[in-house]
Amino acid sequence: MLNIVLFGPPGAGKGTQSERLIEKYGLVHLSTGDIFRANIGGETELGLLAKSFMDKGALVPDEVTINMLKDEVSKHQGARGFIFDGFPRTNAQAKALDDFLAELNTEIGVMLALDVEEEELKDRLLKRAKVSGRKDDSDPAVIQNRIDVYKKETAPVKAYYEAQNKFISIPGTGDIDEISARLYRAIDGLNA
Ligand code: AMP
Repeated sequence: MLNIVLFGPPGAGKGTQSERLIEKYGLVHLSTGDIFRANIGGETELGLLAKSFMDKGALVPDEVTINMLKDEVSKHQGARGFIFDGFPRTNAQAKALDDFLAELNTEIGVMLALDVEEEELKDRLLKRAKVSGRKDDSDPAVIQNRIDVYKKETAPVKAYYEAQNKFISIPGTGDIDEISARLYRAIDGLNA
């Protein structure tokens, strides 16, 4: 199996690049943000709970997120692999993912981290708000909170994968096709 963590701050391009990677490598895309938003749309109990955190740009509690992610992985038995997009966002989530994948006799192959500077992220999110209709993209205070939460709680997850020699940083600015090509080269180089 090929299991990839696609990492990076909000607005780094994880969703856009995931679409390309799943097509090229035949993987299942699991975006915890997308799954939460689908639950909000469906007015489920999970959606109601997640919304209260998402509207503020805060993280949904680990236990809730981890259980949801495990359920989603379990729905795709026989998958060639997964792209985890927006997960793990804390060290506790990273550890839980490792333990869970070990139970399934597999593991994370690599964390690919899209590197984009803060001013560009803010520009991109405000532009995206116009098409995504996402409430958390349209309010500069919420955007700032998401970036601050990323720096404080999520950026340390890099070190978790660095310690396992699984961390690769990818410049996330410039032409979208060129960014994809960088990701393909990193993935194709894994077993080379
Ligand atoms: P995203 O679509 O990845 O930008 O996520 C949107 C929002 O969903 C985040 O700001 C969090 O509130 C919530 N969320 C998504 N993934 C996670 C996660 N792994 N842990 C906690 N909260 C998450």
